[in-house]
Amino acid sequence: MTTGPSGQEQTQGRHELARRGRCPECDDEYERLAGHWKGSCGPPTLDRRQRTLLAGLLLGDGHVGGNGETKHFQLSTRWRPFARWVFAELDWLAARVVRITDARDERRSPAQRYVVRTHAHPGLSHLREWYHSSEAGSDAAAGESSDTKRLPAPADLPGGGLTSRIGRAWHATAGSLAWSAPEYATTRQASFSAEADARAERVMALLESVGLEPTRAGKRVQLPPKQTTGWLEWIGTDPVPGVAYKWAADHEEYQTAKRDAEALRARLWYERAMGTGGSDGS
Ligand SMILES: [Zn+2]
Repeated sequence: MTTGPSGQEQTQGRHELARRGRCPECDDEYERLAGHWKGSCGPPTLDRRQRTLLAGLLLGDGHVGGNGETKHFQLSTRWRPFARWVFAELDWLAARVVRITDARDERRSPAQRYVVRTHAHPGLSHLREWYHSSEAGSDAAAGESSDTKRLPAPADLPGGGLTSRIGRAWHATAGSLAWSAPEYATTRQASFSAEADARAERVMALLESVGLEPTRAGKRVQLPPKQTTGWLEWIGTDPVPGVAYKWAADHEEYQTAKRDAEALRARLWYERAMGTGGSDGS
């Protein structure tokens, strides 16, 4: 009832890379922690590190979903080291990391993605409610998918404002770096995608709330070069694993870091292909 047959997992191209199910209250292992937490232990409270990490990832590609009463958090990424970092940082809340390969992509390469998923937890339901309530007054069209995620106002973030840890997770999942003149390191600008006006306003508000002066440039909101340096110092100059290129000091370093990330991704793809080629195993 709890897990599908492995044959089905194979045809769907799903392979579990990591799993965690230890209850921090009683230190026992469980297949379904959310079920265990309905019994004697009760769900432990999310700590500040977990809440700020989740908030930052939700500003980017993170997602809170699930049909049950309590929700889980999920993040999909191209970069395995980044998935593993998120898994480690989420601590006991993290349930698993799964590599997903679309069967249609089998002949193209590399085409894997990595999904980090948490255990269902009532604290995440609150986070989802909070996201929905932050949509109040938005110009969302009627009938728009409920999965469409709006960015919160700064005051709606956990702790009441943007912190360096929230910013760090946000930059890791949704930030970009570019150089208007690649030969000059001083032309480096950080940016966040924001095609819709409502999203751009929220991105601007978040950055302005910590004293930055972003500008809108087409489908992006960007920071001027000096403030880009200030932003990266504020969120921590030590790059998040898997996305080090988003912390590069100059364009050459950026290209090298991006190439390294792609090379690792390609190597993992071919290792996977060789591993499944002969034996149908993992
Ligand atoms: Zn327990």
